[in-house]
This record gives sequence, structure tokens and C-alpha cells, in this order.
Amino acid sequence: MESLPPSKVNCSMARPKSLTLPLSVDRALKGHACQHNSNHSIAKGDLRLKVAVGRSYEHYCVTCARAFVAQAIERLQKLHTELEG
Ligand SMILES: [Zn+2]
Repeated sequence: MESLPPSKVNCSMARPKSLTLPLSVDRALKGHACQHNSNHSIAKGDLRLKVAVGRSYEHYCVTCARAFVAQAIERLQKLHTELEG
């Protein structure tokens, strides 16, 4: 393979695009209710799932969050399988 000057190096195969999910995990700065189920409470310092919704964020308790993430994994696995043709 001949070497090209750095400015001309152009990878023929694009790197896998990383899908950015509007999700992250943080810890509650103060106690509040889960935004999926108001009977669930999140205490100060608890882990919670932070979901970007438009310009703001919604926060869900670990119980709800794990269910959402499990559903998302299932959905991604299904897509992965579908793409195998
Ligand atoms: Zn919840």
C-alpha cells in the first residue's frame, strides 16, 4: 500500500457511527418523584436515568430505568437481527 500525505488520507470505510442516545445516568441532587410513576420516589444521592426531552430532562427511578433500558436493548437486538436479512 502506498502511503499518502496525511491530508489526502481518506478512509474508504467509514467508522461505525455511534448512535447517540439521549440517555445518561446521574445521581439525584435532591429527592423527587420518578417522572414515570409518581408513586416511585428518588432520594437525594440515588442513581436515576436522565432522559433528554427537547431542551429539558426527565428523570426516572432505577426500577423504571432498568425496564426502559431492557426494552431498548430488546429493540436494538431485534433491529440487529432484522439487518442480518
Ligand atoms: Zn419509577
